[in-house]
Amino acid sequence: MTIAYTYACRDCEGMEACPASITAETREELWQLMGHHAQIAHAENPADWDQETVAYLETLIREVNVETTDK
Ligand SMILES: [Zn+2]
Repeated sequence: MTIAYTYACRDCEGMEACPASITAETREELWQLMGHHAQIAHAENPADWDQETVAYLETLIREVNVETTDK
Protein backbone atom coordinates (compact mmCIF):
# COMPACT_ATOMS: atom_id res chain seq x y z
CA MET A 1 0.00 0.00 0.00
CA THR A 2 1.13 3.44 -0.88
CA ILE A 3 -0.05 6.78 0.37
CA ALA A 4 -1.34 8.95 -2.43
CA TYR A 5 -2.96 12.34 -2.59
CA THR A 6 -6.29 12.87 -4.22
CA TYR A 7 -8.40 15.83 -5.21
CA ALA A 8 -12.01 15.63 -6.39
CA CYS A 9 -12.94 18.71 -8.34
CA ARG A 10 -16.62 18.48 -7.37
CA ASP A 11 -15.62 19.08 -3.71
CA CYS A 12 -14.63 22.57 -4.74
CA GLU A 13 -17.28 25.25 -4.38
CA GLY A 14 -18.79 26.01 -7.76
CA MET A 15 -17.31 22.88 -9.38
CA GLU A 16 -20.07 20.47 -8.34
CA ALA A 17 -20.75 19.52 -11.96
CA CYS A 18 -17.15 18.51 -12.67
CA PRO A 19 -16.57 14.73 -12.58
CA ALA A 20 -12.78 14.94 -12.52
CA SER A 21 -10.78 13.49 -9.70
CA ILE A 22 -7.03 13.48 -9.64
CA THR A 23 -4.68 11.21 -7.72
CA ALA A 24 -0.93 11.48 -7.53
CA GLU A 25 1.91 10.07 -5.52
CA THR A 26 3.10 13.39 -4.15
CA ARG A 27 1.44 16.67 -3.29
CA GLU A 28 3.75 18.44 -5.69
CA GLU A 29 2.62 16.29 -8.59
CA LEU A 30 -1.00 16.65 -7.55
CA TRP A 31 -0.76 20.45 -7.60
CA GLN A 32 0.67 20.32 -11.10
CA LEU A 33 -2.12 18.06 -12.30
CA MET A 34 -4.72 20.24 -10.60
CA GLY A 35 -3.23 23.20 -12.43
CA HIS A 36 -3.44 21.40 -15.74
CA HIS A 37 -7.00 20.37 -15.05
CA ALA A 38 -8.01 23.90 -14.12
CA GLN A 39 -6.53 25.22 -17.34
CA ILE A 40 -7.97 22.54 -19.62
CA ALA A 41 -11.39 22.06 -18.06
CA HIS A 42 -12.10 25.43 -16.47
CA ALA A 43 -9.96 27.89 -18.46
CA GLU A 44 -8.37 29.03 -15.21
CA ASN A 45 -4.75 30.00 -14.90
CA PRO A 46 -3.31 28.49 -11.72
CA ALA A 47 -0.76 31.30 -11.69
CA ASP A 48 -3.70 33.61 -10.91
CA TRP A 49 -4.75 31.65 -7.83
CA ASP A 50 -4.33 33.80 -4.76
CA GLN A 51 -3.20 32.57 -1.35
CA GLU A 52 -6.78 32.14 -0.22
CA THR A 53 -7.63 29.93 -3.20
CA VAL A 54 -4.52 27.83 -2.72
CA ALA A 55 -5.28 27.44 1.00
CA TYR A 56 -8.86 26.45 0.19
CA LEU A 57 -7.79 23.89 -2.42
CA GLU A 58 -5.24 22.54 0.05
CA THR A 59 -8.09 21.65 2.44
CA LEU A 60 -9.72 19.59 -0.32
CA ILE A 61 -6.70 17.36 -0.85
CA ARG A 62 -7.12 14.02 0.84
CA GLU A 63 -4.63 11.29 1.65
CA VAL A 64 -5.61 7.85 0.48
CA ASN A 65 -4.14 4.39 0.55
CA VAL A 66 -3.63 2.92 -2.87
CA GLU A 67 -3.17 -0.73 -3.68
CA THR A 68 -0.12 -1.13 -5.82
CA THR A 69 0.73 -4.21 -7.80
CA ASP A 70 4.48 -4.09 -7.28
CA LYS A 71 5.55 -6.07 -4.25
ZN1 LIG B 1 -12.80 20.33 -12.64
